[in-house]
Amino acid sequence: MRTKRHGAPSLAGGATPLAALRGVGAGTAEKLAARGLVTVQDLWLHLPLRYEDRTRLTPIRDLQAGVPAQVEGTVEAVERGFRYRPLLRVALDDGSHATLVLRFFHFRAAQVAQFRPGVRLRCFGTPRPGQHGLEIVHPSYRVLGDADEVALGDSLDPVYPAVEGVGPSTLKKLIGQALDLLPDTAVLDLLPVSLPGVSETVLATLPDMRESLLALHRPPVDADLAALAAGTHPAQRRLAIEELLAHHLSLRRQRLAQQQLSARSLAGTGTLASRLRQGLPFALTGAQQRVFEQISQDLATPSPMQRLVQGDVGSGKTVVAALAATLAVERGCQVALAAPTELLAEQHLANLRAWLEPLGIRVAWLAGKVTGKARAAALADVASGQAQVVVGTHALMQEGVAFHDLALVIVDEQHRFGVQQRLALRDKGPASGHVPHQLVMTATPIPRTLAMTAYADLDVSAIDELPPGRTPVQTVAVSAERRPELVERIRGACAEGRQAYWVCTLIEEPDDDGKPGQDLRQQAQAAERTFAQLSQQLPGVRVGLVHGRMKASEKQAVMRAFKEGALDLLVATTVIEVGVDVPNASLMIVENAERLGLAQLHQLRGRVGRGAAASSCVLLYQPPLSQMARQRLDVLRQTGDGFVIAEKDLELRGPGELLGTRQTGLAAFRIADLARDAGLLPQVHALADRLLAHAPDAADRVVARWIGGATRYAAA
Ligand code: ADP
Ligand code: MG
Repeated sequence: MRTKRHGAPSLAGGATPLAALRGVGAGTAEKLAARGLVTVQDLWLHLPLRYEDRTRLTPIRDLQAGVPAQVEGTVEAVERGFRYRPLLRVALDDGSHATLVLRFFHFRAAQVAQFRPGVRLRCFGTPRPGQHGLEIVHPSYRVLGDADEVALGDSLDPVYPAVEGVGPSTLKKLIGQALDLLPDTAVLDLLPVSLPGVSETVLATLPDMRESLLALHRPPVDADLAALAAGTHPAQRRLAIEELLAHHLSLRRQRLAQQQLSARSLAGTGTLASRLRQGLPFALTGAQQRVFEQISQDLATPSPMQRLVQGDVGSGKTVVAALAATLAVERGCQVALAAPTELLAEQHLANLRAWLEPLGIRVAWLAGKVTGKARAAALADVASGQAQVVVGTHALMQEGVAFHDLALVIVDEQHRFGVQQRLALRDKGPASGHVPHQLVMTATPIPRTLAMTAYADLDVSAIDELPPGRTPVQTVAVSAERRPELVERIRGACAEGRQAYWVCTLIEEPDDDGKPGQDLRQQAQAAERTFAQLSQQLPGVRVGLVHGRMKASEKQAVMRAFKEGALDLLVATTVIEVGVDVPNASLMIVENAERLGLAQLHQLRGRVGRGAAASSCVLLYQPPLSQMARQRLDVLRQTGDGFVIAEKDLELRGPGELLGTRQTGLAAFRIADLARDAGLLPQVHALADRLLAHAPDAADRVVARWIGGATRYAAA
C-alpha cells in the first residue's frame, strides 16, 4: 500500500506548514496533523459545521424554543441544588417581561461566585422549554462589567468541527491567521472557468474560490443562513464541485496507474468453464452470461482487471465468480476468494467444492478458526500451488499467507472490507511483477451517477436479472403494537412445517465521528430477550438464536440446525444479512424496520423467497411513523428490485448507507454530500474529462488540494 502526497504546489501561503503560524508549537502541530490538518490550505478547507448569530440581541420575551439566540440581561436569582446530580440555575431578566433560566450541571465554584444577583450577562444558546418557561442548558456566556458597552459581532460566528487537543478558540484564531494568508483569486483558483471547446463551465455561475472561502468562514450578517444550513449556498456548491472533482480525478488516476501495471493474460480455451456450465442444474441467465463474457475479456488482456459486479441478492453472482476462477485455473494459476464473514465464506466453500472438485480442481479453506496443523497444511498447499482455489475470510489477507502464483482475487461483499484489506490481497501476487486481476462483488447496487464517482477506479457490471421462477416476497409494514398477531402468524407457519426468521435490531446513533457505534453486546442482549419471550410464547415451536457475540462454532451449529429443519424459528441479529440460504424459510419479521437502511432491509429480505413457497416479510415499526419513514417502507413494499430501491434510497435519504467510506476508495468528504450534490455529478464528470484532456496540471493541483495532504487516503 502506498500513501501518496502529490507534489505540493507552491501556492502562495497555501503549502505553508501550520507550524509557521503564531501559537503553533510542535504539540499543537501534531494534534492538528492527527486530524489531517498539515498546511495552511488544510485550514482553509476546515469548514464550519454551523454558525451562531451574535450580531444581535434577542429580547427574552421573543425567544423561541429550538432557535439559537443571544440575550443580555441581569441575574435575578441563583439557585444551587442537587437533584440526582449537582445543579445550578440562574434566572436572567432583561426587562422584556419574561425570565430565562440558565441551567448548569457541570460547574466550578468560581463560576457560581460570578453569578450574583444584579450582575449583567451576555449569553448564547438554544432555549428549550423548561419547568418555568424557557431555559438554556450550558449557554456560552460572558460577564459584562457595569459600564461595559460590548460591541456585537459583525459577522456570523463559525463553529468548527472539533480537533482533539486544540480548543475551539485557538482553532478559530489559527483559521483566522490562515485566512489572512489567502492569496488572490488568480493564484487560488485552480480551475479554468472556461476550457477549450466549451465556452463556460458551471463554475462561471458561482463565486470564485476566494469569495467562497471567505463567505463560509466569515459570512456577513445578512448571509442566507438557511441555505448555509442546507448546504446549498453557492459558496458551498463551488467548493463541493471542486471536492467531488478531486475525488473523481484521484480515482481515475488510480485507475490509470492500475492500467500501467501488468497482469497475466488468462486467455484460454474455456474448457473448464464449459464443463462447469454443463454440469449445472440450471442455465445461466442472460445477465450472468453477459457479465461472465465481460470478465473473460478483461482476463484475456495483460493488464489487471478491476471490475465490480453489482447484482441483487440471489442474482447468482457466485456461479459467475466460479466460472471466472476456472479461467485462471486452466492457465495453471491460483484464485483467492474472500468473504467478510465465516458463514458466507463457508457457503462459498461448499458451492465451489460442489462445482469445481468434480472438474479436478482443488479448493482449500482458510479462515480464522482454521488453526494448528490444519492451518499449516492449508498454508503449505497454498504456497506450493497445490490448492488452486483458496476460499476464506480476512484470514486470507494476513501476512504469512503466501501464494504460489495468484492471478485472480475475488472479493465478495467488498464494502465490508476496507480498501486496505483488498489491497493486501492484491499484493500477494507473484514476485514476477504481475499483479492479480481483481473481481469485486456487491449485493448493494448503487445508482449509476454515484457509481461513476465512487467507483471511478473500477469497471462496473450489473447482473440485473434474477434467475427464473422466483416468487416476489410479499412485504407489509405493521405497527409494533400488532406484535401479538405476528406471534400467532409464526405459530401457524411453523405448524405447517415452514420456517421463519425474527430479526432483532438495535440501532444506536452514530457517534461523533459519524461511525456507527454498533454495540454487539447490546444487540446480543436484545436478541436474547426476544428469544426468551418468543420461546415462552410459542411452546412447541423450536426456536434458535444467533448473534454476533456467539462463537463462530456456536453460530454455525445453530445455522446448520435451522438449515436442516431441526429449528423452526430463528431469532437473529443482522448477522444473518449475508450468507444464509434456507429455501424452506418463507416468513421474516424485522423489528424496528424504520431505523434500518433500505439497502440493508432489502438484503435481509433476500433471505426469504428462495424456495417454492410464497414468502412474506413483515416490517415492524415503532409508531408514530414519520412521513419520510413511511415513504421509505413503502418503497420496499412496492418493489423487489435492488436497483430501484437504491435509486429511491438515494432520493429519500442519501448515500450514507449505500456508500460508507469503507465501501469505496473515497475518503470522507469535507463539504460535498453525494446525495445532496448528486445533481452536480454529471457536470463534475464532464469537468474531469476536460481537465484531464486540456489542463492535466490543474487536475493534479485539485487532487493535491483536497486529498493530497491527507494521510487518511490510501491509493488503490
Ligand atoms: P448472490 O448473487 O446473492 O450471491 P447466489 O450466487 O448465492 O446469489 O445464488 C443464489 C441461488 O441461485 C443459488 O442457489 C444459486 O445456485 C442459484 N442460481 C444461480 N444462478 C442461477 C440460474 N441461472 N438459474 C437458477 N438458479 C440459479
Ligand atoms: Mg452472494
